[in-house]
Amino acid sequence: MKPESKANSINIRRGDVVKMMAGRDRGKTGRVLSVDRAKNRVTVEHSNMIKRHTRANPNKNIKGGIIDKEAAVNISNVMLVCPGCGKSSRMGRSVLPSGTRVRVCRRCNATLPE
Ligand SMILES: [Zn+2]
Repeated sequence: MKPESKANSINIRRGDVVKMMAGRDRGKTGRVLSVDRAKNRVTVEHSNMIKRHTRANPNKNIKGGIIDKEAAVNISNVMLVCPGCGKSSRMGRSVLPSGTRVRVCRRCNATLPE
């Protein structure tokens, strides 16, 4: 598979609400904090929390201690939650007559900006 076509299959953007489909936080929903297209991973707010033991770095104003932090999960382990019907659903894509590309909910046909 070409890298471009792989990146194309990612239909989740930063700020989207997704549902965790696997792991400790299965069933939870949260906002996407970041998307790593190269690694096919997303970071979801308050999900898959890890404890990171950090050393204080006064130069960068980082405090030492144990910090709770979101860890990235594979994109296949989350599903987009449709703002129209509120359910995790598969998304199609389509182009509006105006030429804007949108994502379309397969359940309720609500459109989301791409
Ligand atoms: Zn929907």
